[in-house]
Amino acid sequence: TVGRPVPDLRWVALGLAGNVRCERLWEAIGMENRLYIGGTWTAAEGTFDVIDPSTGEVFASVADADADAAVRALDAAAAAQASWAATAPRDRSEILRRAYELMHERAEKLARLTTREMGRPMAESLGEVSYAAEFLRWFAEEAVRVGGEYRVAPGGDYRILTTRQPVGPAYLVTPWNFPLSMVTRKVGPAIAAGCTMIIKPAEATPLSALALGRLLADAGVPDGVLSVLPTNRAPEVTNALIADGRLRLLSFTGSTPVGKRLMEQAAGKVLRTTMELGGNAPFLVFDDADLDAALNGAVVAKMRNTGESCVAANRFIVHEAVAEEFAAGLAERLGSLRLGPGLDPETEVGPLIDERARDRVAGLVADALERGATLRTGGKVSDGPGWFYPPTVLGDVPVDARVMREEIFAPVAPIAVFPDEESMIAAANDTEAGLVAYAYTRDLKRALRVGEALETGMVGLNRGLVSNPAAPFGGVKESGIGREGGFEGIDDYVELKYLAVDM
Ligand code: NAD
Repeated sequence: TVGRPVPDLRWVALGLAGNVRCERLWEAIGMENRLYIGGTWTAAEGTFDVIDPSTGEVFASVADADADAAVRALDAAAAAQASWAATAPRDRSEILRRAYELMHERAEKLARLTTREMGRPMAESLGEVSYAAEFLRWFAEEAVRVGGEYRVAPGGDYRILTTRQPVGPAYLVTPWNFPLSMVTRKVGPAIAAGCTMIIKPAEATPLSALALGRLLADAGVPDGVLSVLPTNRAPEVTNALIADGRLRLLSFTGSTPVGKRLMEQAAGKVLRTTMELGGNAPFLVFDDADLDAALNGAVVAKMRNTGESCVAANRFIVHEAVAEEFAAGLAERLGSLRLGPGLDPETEVGPLIDERARDRVAGLVADALERGATLRTGGKVSDGPGWFYPPTVLGDVPVDARVMREEIFAPVAPIAVFPDEESMIAAANDTEAGLVAYAYTRDLKRALRVGEALETGMVGLNRGLVSNPAAPFGGVKESGIGREGGFEGIDDYVELKYLAVDM
């Protein structure tokens, strides 16, 4: 059942409850309603509304950046680039470390902001604060390990020195679904490498990005190095920046169609791009799997972040020998989760981001049922405010159903049944997406064989969660180009230069 929004007194005290005046909200989060441009909080001409998905009501109006603001942010980034690049790596490392600590000090407030903006339960929001902070800690450690090589030229007559320099001003475009970690996964390596940057958060989650901007300034990021541009005019702001020859990197996380469009634009300037795009993760359960472990992993892989995750299990590809037991177990586990507003401590599943997302997923489920799938649990939208969709399990789903082909981004689990390993792998790879896959088997050789055969950038073997700041996150095929996190996460932010030195 969908609970009513619960008035939380601590939330009211923070000025973040429903129906508080917007000025109080800004006061409560320690900021004014402004753009952050190169170290200065700057007024904007207009504002745009932010909606609480658990009520469908506007809860804040945020300064709206335009093309002029974007160019001013790039002016600041370009002017600060040389001195920032010359900062001692240890100093940049210390800033990141301080930012990591501040995230933990401000965890509660940051978590509440994200729950307010995108709806998920507080426990998950607190988890994301911690995950996001880890990128800052990881890159604080990496900042002092960016190095080069000394080689003797084959003729012996000169020396080859390689060095890694910051690429220059970076434009960081992020989605709403992980509003903190998608920013820190880019800001961490940018600071570690010595790049200046402009952050453009998604329209639905501008407040948490502004709060991060404030936090990074408090941690010691110098003026000019960082700007945060909330905007309801993403194409206008982005066009202005890409057209300006001073930009050196576009790092984008978001949907595949938007990523493709931005790659076309970036081609005009031969602009370096990193693309973290959409997924369509297969979750394979073999006949020799530990079914209890597979069900536990399935709940994590499907339900984390209300299913609104690029690494969410999208298609359950299950061997016929265990299909009925798996479907019954998943329906029982998902069917017992409590749907409600993210601020209610009892809530286990929050609302979807907006009405469009809810209507879209209802359409996917209807399409699967029309094509012969069976409804094992969920599937019915309740009355009441907010964009809630219940955890849903569909059995016997045909592979051509839309729910198998499109990224669901909601708590809906379609199960398709297959006779053997070969057909399961073929089905798993039958998609343009290639971000992550999951596979459950007790056979080590099969695990490795399947892990190698799956066409994805990441594979969870007997694990429903792969995201870790110490690991290289990213996809193949249409899921993207580049890796974020891990030792590799800094590569896009540094340019390899070679110096030929005569002897
Ligand atoms: P989206 O593509 O709609 O938006 C992402 C960002 O791009 C936002 O900041 C948005 O304002 C901006 N944007 C949208 N249209 C634009 C345009 N024409 N020009 C310039 N900027 C534009 O994606 P979303 O709905 O915010 O996020 C969900 C998507 O992100 C899903 O497909 C999900 O899989 C993907 N995602 C991928 C990863 C990953 O690491 N691979 C992580 C999280 C989310």
